[in-house]
Amino acid sequence: MPYDFDLFVIGGGSGGVRCARIAAGHGARVAVAEQRFWGGTCVNVGCVPKKLMVMAAEYGQAAQDSRGFGWDTAPPRHHWAALIAAKDREIARLNGSYRRLLDGSGCTSFDSRATLLDPHTLEVAGRRVTAERIVLATGGRPVRPDFPGAAHSIVSDDVFSLPALPRRIVLLGGGYIAVEFAGIFAGLGAEVDLVYRQPLPLRGFDEDLRTALAEAMQAGGIRLHPATTIAAVEADGAAKRVTLGNGTLLPADLVFAATGRLPNTDGLGLAQAGVATDGFGAVCVHGHAETSVPNIFAIGDVTNRLNLTPVAIAEGHSLADRLFGAGPRDWAFEAVATAVFSAPPIGTVGLTEEQAALRGPADIYLSRFTPMRHTLSGRARRTLMKLVVCQQTQRVLGAHMLGEDAPEIVQGLSIAINSGATKQDFDRTIGIHPTAAEEFVTLRTRTRAVG
Ligand code: NDP
Repeated sequence: MPYDFDLFVIGGGSGGVRCARIAAGHGARVAVAEQRFWGGTCVNVGCVPKKLMVMAAEYGQAAQDSRGFGWDTAPPRHHWAALIAAKDREIARLNGSYRRLLDGSGCTSFDSRATLLDPHTLEVAGRRVTAERIVLATGGRPVRPDFPGAAHSIVSDDVFSLPALPRRIVLLGGGYIAVEFAGIFAGLGAEVDLVYRQPLPLRGFDEDLRTALAEAMQAGGIRLHPATTIAAVEADGAAKRVTLGNGTLLPADLVFAATGRLPNTDGLGLAQAGVATDGFGAVCVHGHAETSVPNIFAIGDVTNRLNLTPVAIAEGHSLADRLFGAGPRDWAFEAVATAVFSAPPIGTVGLTEEQAALRGPADIYLSRFTPMRHTLSGRARRTLMKLVVCQQTQRVLGAHMLGEDAPEIVQGLSIAINSGATKQDFDRTIGIHPTAAEEFVTLRTRTRAVG
């Protein structure tokens, strides 16, 4: 039976758009539906506007730090509205370019929600269309909290369009988003209280990194409230009163909950089509993108695996190559580098010390130092660098860094780690002086052995 399209992609975010464009490039007849905004979370309410806001916060700190280098700068003042307007212009430009890229690659795009009626039929923009293969790339959405008074709080979707910078902010969560926005808001001059239920933020990250991050946040003026949560929020006009589980009362102008994300699968028609989901609503996948229905695939956050933009892009690209091209490109999904744009940022790839110790003996190389910039700036900020090495093979299993430029540095290291570099390969590499990065090739003395 002839289908209207060879491939129908539901969701015009990073993964969906890449999959559609690559498939079209291989000659497939492709359609993409997007109900909200082209570019998805990353471009509109995620990575991109977040990073611009991180940069805004860094400029203020750099202006302060410049005094140690002889600059006579007046205390910098930040204009929130100017930042939001500039950010909005850039996001609008990116939106348009995503759309143009799709159109330019010959895909049919629908500004509409699409739902499945059966494994080959969709309803989109008030009509029925058929497709031989379907890709689910609908992403995720922030979890809305459910404590009493939760209606007085916001989630990450709301934070990019606040009319003004709130003076006092209570953030709930110890994950990527809470940690990143704590740094942004503190850097822009707000008072920030960060409330998280673990002893340290960033559960699952290397323990030394977590400890160093908590210290850095405190040094940056962020008040930490570990091992507790928000019990209730009361509002009195614009002012809010936050009660924590441990009884602490915090006054606030903004309460921001960043307690994770959930896959966007509600009302998608998955049950009608026979696509299995898990208890969180994520599409169950086996292999790289196969669902329980042979002609339906899922990529990116809707599968709730590694919820990172470059992973969704790689999954989409690889799937399109596999379905319509000469075969998939080889991607290293085992050791995916990731960054947390905290202040200072984190870059991390491979095994943590704790994970490595469970697999066998490992050598740990650790360095903490004041980076050159802050010897003059006077800012209380230290860098942490760490290598986790398999004792038996001497392969570097993990690299972790907290400090300025950590994401830029660790991206390079991730190539070495994915290529199986040993500690000896690191040692025989000549450093670039004077940089912080050179420390990764001069970590001569083992700090400890574990496992
Ligand atoms: P995360 O899953 O990273 O963290 C959620 C946090 O909320 C955890 O600290 C968790 O605590 C806490 N939490 C969950 N439920 C509750 C609750 N009921 N009460 C109190 N605390 C709770 O989610 P985020 O929202 O920060 O980010 C979502 C995802 O988006 C990330 O996991 C990441 O994949 C992606 N992302 C990536 C970024 C990057 O690459 N730089 C930036 C931003 C997001 P606990 O640890 O105890 O479970």
